[in-house]
Amino acid sequence: MVDHLDFYTEKKYCPRCHDYVPYLASLTRSFCAMCGQPVNLFSKEDWQKFRRRDAKTANAKKTSFLSQGNKPRHTRPSADNN
Ligand SMILES: [Zn+2]
Repeated sequence: MVDHLDFYTEKKYCPRCHDYVPYLASLTRSFCAMCGQPVNLFSKEDWQKFRRRDAKTANAKKTSFLSQGNKPRHTRPSADNN
């Protein structure tokens, strides 16, 4: 019964069936169990969402790094005055 559930969670997107389908995995690619076409891990839409989110987190890291780098510059002059 648990194996049956696992089978359904392990699906990939078939561009020909326009749906997430059970697939047959080979060493290099995975193929749709329904029509035999190569399948993708995500649909195009989901893949774009995933990449957009990835770019956002990368930007957030960059800005937080920059703001951290600016802080010492602001504290240094006041430290000299003391
Ligand atoms: Zn298919």
